[in-house]
This record gives sequence, C-alpha cells and structure tokens, in this order.
Amino acid sequence: MYELRNYTELLVKKTLEEYLPKSGLPCQCERCRADIMAFALNRLPPRYFVSLKGEVFTSFKAQTVPDKTRVLAEVISASQIVAANPSHSISSETLD
Ligand SMILES: [Zn+2]
Repeated sequence: MYELRNYTELLVKKTLEEYLPKSGLPCQCERCRADIMAFALNRLPPRYFVSLKGEVFTSFKAQTVPDKTRVLAEVISASQIVAANPSHSISSETLD
C-alpha cells in the first residue's frame, strides 16, 4: 500500500516543534499549532512523494527540499499571526 506524503508538511512540523519552546507564544495548544502549520503550509510549495504505508521517513533529495531558512521564516510569521488572532479565546480559565 502506497500513500502520498508532503515533505514540506513534515519539515514545517519539525521546525515548529523546535521553534515553539523558545517562541514565547502565549498559547501553544494543539489548535494553535495546527493553525500555525496551516498558515505556513499555505505559503510554502508542497513537495509530495510516494511512500510505502507505515514506512519510516528517512531521506529526500536535497535539491527538491524547501529552503529551511524560508520554512522557519514562514513558521515564525504564521506564529505571530495566530498569536495575534487566535482561533479560540485565551484566558487562564480557557485551556483550549
Ligand atoms: Zn491555543
């Protein structure tokens, strides 16, 4: 069984996971993380590849990989947009 996967999505997810702990964002819940990924992914070119279902991702041809600096820039920019316009209300009583 084969499936389509988007390398850009994997890269954005990894970049976001590394960026969040030092981002100082007021909310880092699952919803906000998904919103940040959606914003960033809509601004980056997709890089689909076929993988065997369940196969662990190992490598990808370097020349087709989106620029990591650009990915980080889009993640930071998306984080600022989401922090300024969260999809849910943020208060100490609202967890999500
Ligand atoms: Zn949130």
